[in-house]
Amino acid sequence: MAARRNSWAIWLVVHVAHSPEEDRPVPTTSLPKAADERVDWIHNIPFVAVHLLPLLAVFTDVTTFDVLLCISLYFIRMFFITAGYHRYFSHRAYKVGRVMQVILAFGGGTAAQKGALWWAAHHRHHHKYSDTEQDRHSPKKGLFWSHVGWIVCRKYRPTDYSAIKDLASYPELRWLNKHHWVPPACLAVGCFLAGGWSALLIGFFLSTVLTYHGTFLINSMTHLFGRRRYVTTDTSRNSLILALLTLGEGWHNNHHYYQSSANQGFFWWEIDVSYYVLKLLSLFGLVRDLRNPPQHVLKANRVADSHWDVGMLGEKLSDSIATLGESPERQHP
Ligand SMILES: [Zn+2]
Ligand SMILES: [Zn+2]
Repeated sequence: MAARRNSWAIWLVVHVAHSPEEDRPVPTTSLPKAADERVDWIHNIPFVAVHLLPLLAVFTDVTTFDVLLCISLYFIRMFFITAGYHRYFSHRAYKVGRVMQVILAFGGGTAAQKGALWWAAHHRHHHKYSDTEQDRHSPKKGLFWSHVGWIVCRKYRPTDYSAIKDLASYPELRWLNKHHWVPPACLAVGCFLAGGWSALLIGFFLSTVLTYHGTFLINSMTHLFGRRRYVTTDTSRNSLILALLTLGEGWHNNHHYYQSSANQGFFWWEIDVSYYVLKLLSLFGLVRDLRNPPQHVLKANRVADSHWDVGMLGEKLSDSIATLGESPERQHP
């Protein structure tokens, strides 16, 4: 009987795991959080306050200028996060001079997501341990945890300098990382001077909250929502909607498959605004040596080519065994 069950499990895994790019709303397997992976609201009162401050705008006369400022600062700062903090500092997907490097660090810093060194160190760790117990923000530890819980966890406040030795040799980057409040404070003052209280509350604080959650979607939803083209060892997915909201970061399965690429949309129909801007900047020599995936890499390891979908294999196997009514001990040996 046990042998018959096992053969059914293998049949299901082989046939379902070979299915072409597919949608799966949520992973069915979960990972435990470490004992010290806990939300710490007390030490994150400023973070909560940033979310509440835009509500005070009801006491002001919000103008069209404030709304346009909010939208503009969302997309400008999203570019600095995606093209700067992510593709440059975390993955070194292109090269820049030292002045441009500090501009990218300052611009990303205005999004109030701490310094480029903190951000890159955590992100490199995510790629190293994607969807394993060591992954700091795998959605398998819970959707809320992956989206915002790990951000407000005391354990992850320090910068792991051992993960960003290539960047830590620049004193200006270390200074900005230590004084990460300076860029957002400068922007906040600029918004206030430009349009008063309503510009500060809507132009700065509301767009900061929107940029937070646009960025956080990449840690949460791009591992839950969308399609998989390439075989990877994680559950990353591609999503047009998320790519539009985040200027190209929604092509997350592409990105996990080939991390060092300056473009995350690998084909012409995969809209990747951050990459288009980088290409434009390269024409003026402000950035250079944009890295792209070679043709043979683009064609290889497609889920649709009947390769094993390694990232989903564990989930499929768990589903298959559960379907066959195995005991919990057998599902989680
Ligand atoms: Zn990445
Ligand atoms: Zn990821």
